[in-house]
Formats: sequence, C-alpha cells, structure tokens
Amino acid sequence: MTHIAVLVEHTSGDVRQSTLEALTLARSLGDPVGIWIGEEPSSDACHELGRYGASEVRHVPAPDQSTYTAELMAQAVIAAMGEASVLLAISTFATKEVLAYVAHRTGAGIVVDAASAAWDEGKIVTTQTVFSATWNVRTAIQTPLAIVAVRPNTTQAQASPEPAGAALVPVECEFTQPHTTVLSRTSVKQQGIPLAEAPIVVSGGRGTEGDFSLVEQLAQVLGGAVGATRDATDEGWIAHEHMVGQTGTTVTPALYVACGLSGAVHHRGGMQASGTIVAINTDPDAPIFEIADFGVVGDLREVIPATIAHLQGR
Ligand SMILES: Cc1cc2nc3c(=O)[nH]c(=O)nc-3n(C[C@H](O)[C@H](O)[C@H](O)COP(=O)(O)OP(=O)(O)OC[C@H]3O[C@@H](n4cnc5c(N)ncnc54)[C@H](O)[C@@H]3O)c2cc1C
Repeated sequence: MTHIAVLVEHTSGDVRQSTLEALTLARSLGDPVGIWIGEEPSSDACHELGRYGASEVRHVPAPDQSTYTAELMAQAVIAAMGEASVLLAISTFATKEVLAYVAHRTGAGIVVDAASAAWDEGKIVTTQTVFSATWNVRTAIQTPLAIVAVRPNTTQAQASPEPAGAALVPVECEFTQPHTTVLSRTSVKQQGIPLAEAPIVVSGGRGTEGDFSLVEQLAQVLGGAVGATRDATDEGWIAHEHMVGQTGTTVTPALYVACGLSGAVHHRGGMQASGTIVAINTDPDAPIFEIADFGVVGDLREVIPATIAHLQGR
C-alpha cells in the first residue's frame, strides 16, 4: 500500500490535534506513517498516532538548537520520508516553510492551504479557495512525490476503526550546513488556542466599541479562540495577532461567530471558508449576512449575554 508521510506536530511531547486531522485524511489516501522530529516520542504519543492509523513513527532527532531552521527541518523530513509518495502536513506558517524547502530539494509538486486531497487517476488532486475566497481551485500534482499542506479543521479527526502499530523507527539524518542560522530565540507565551487552528473562533469588530470582554467570554464558553477585525486591532482594542483577514490570519474553524463586524471583503477573505458562520449585527444590511448561515439582527451587548446564558444552561 502507498505510504503517506505525515509531519507530526507536537508540543511538550504531546501530539497536536491538527496531526490527528492529517492522519485521518492520510488514511483515505494510503498507509500513514508519522514523521516525528525532536526528542524521542513517548510510547503514549506513539499509541495515539497508532490509534489514528500510523503504522510507523519515524523519529529523527532534532538538529542542533543553535542552528535550527526550516531548512534543517526539511532535511530531517526528507531523511524520514523514504519511499512515501505523498507528504502531508497541516498548514501553519512553520510547516509551509519546511514543506517549501522539501519541495525545492526533491523537485516535488506542492499545494499549501488545501481544503482536501484525494487520488484521481493516479494523481493527488487538491481543492482550495484562493484570492480571499473568491475562487475555488482544484489542482492535480503531476510529480511522483506530492506535497500537500491542508488547512486546520478541514478534516474531522476520527480514530481508525483498525488502530495501527505505530512502530518507532529511528532515522539518521546527516544535517548539512544550512544557508541561514538562528542567532537567538526567545519563546513567546501563547494564550489560549492558536487562532489558525481553533475549531471555534469568536471575532469582534468596531461594534464592540473597544470592549472585547463579551467576545472573550463567548469564546471561553464555546472553548474557542478570539478573533478581531483590522479596525479593532488598529484601534488597539486587542492585540494584532488576533486579526483575521487578508492581512491577518486565515481561519477555517468549524464555527465562526462574527460579532459587531461588517464583513468587509478584506475580513471575509480570511474567514469565508469557515464551516458555519454566525453573525450578530445591528444592521440587517451588513455584508456579513450575505455569507452567514445564521444571523441575528441585534445589539451584541444584548445578544451575547443571552447566548452565554443559554449555553451555560445546557
Ligand atoms: C489593504 C487592506 C487590507 C485589509 N486587511 C484586513 C484584514 O486582514 N482583516 C480585517 O478585518 N480588515 C482588513 N482591512 C480593513 C477592512 O477593509 C475593514 O475596514 C474592516 O474589516 C472593518 O472592520 P469592522 O467590521 O470592525 O468595522 P465596520 O466596517 O465599521 O463594521 C462595524 C459593524 O458593527 C456593527 N455594529 C455596530 N454596533 C453594533 C452593536 N452594538 N452590536 C452589533 N453590531 C454592531 C455595524 O452595523 C457594522 O456592520 C483591510 C483594509 C485594507 C485597505
């Protein structure tokens, strides 16, 4: 059976949810094998990968921290990929850079930010929305090795009905001198779920008039991340990394709740591909209602507390 290499994302030794999505998709394409770069994975981590169908977990020790770059990560991925005909990862800024290096080195065709991938007449064919979600595109990868990064939340993670062995396979990688080296690194504390991967996003705009507390409360009750429009971040009402849209983060959550934002084209470009879109806006003609699956015409200061009360009562 065709091997589908899946780049495993892990934090503090735990497999990230996004990897379980990638493994679920990989199972529909062939026999998934995990690529784990870093400290050796624990047996629990391997077991978890096996539950989602990984027959092997190919482990490459991380390159020296002082020189650690996407280019070196790509070398590790290439060493571990072996004979796999598809390399799959979840689209993040970091993985996209790594995969681009892999594609460059191997001459493989690459699609990033895909919504799906499937075999069609012997080729991997992906679907995605591009140009601020104004076009739907199908792409066939013509090279023997296909590299695909799929957006988070586009596949629902499901454990395999037939869990696989997830045998740990050590892989040696002789890292060659990269073209860039890291001079220093400082970790920045992340708060809550990363916006790009959150399955639920609650966003606020100018309609909040600078008070994001209700938006944050609703996000907390729903277990989601907080997003914002550019106007809200430009005003300094909330940090810039919360911005959703063309110049902000592109999100594809299962549920997107837009509170007091108009749905300007630049904002829509970053959230239009969300699963279910709910909009709360006082203006019944606000453009956000054109793409909303469920709309509430009303003041967010009344609608959000009522929604929270209702959710907490369930
Ligand atoms: C090159 C470029 C790139 C850009 N990139 C981005 C981007 O990445 N992301 C982004 O978001 N924007 C981006 N913008 C800005 C974008 O064009 C809009 O200006 C912005 O998204 C509007 O923000 P908003 O919806 O919060 O404000 P507004 O458009 O002013 O909308 C506020 C909405 O709140 C509603 N409202 C008011 N009070 C309430 C209330 N009490 N309850 C409920 N609803 C209420 C109003 O009816 C209105 O619809 C970009 C612009 C440019 C030129």
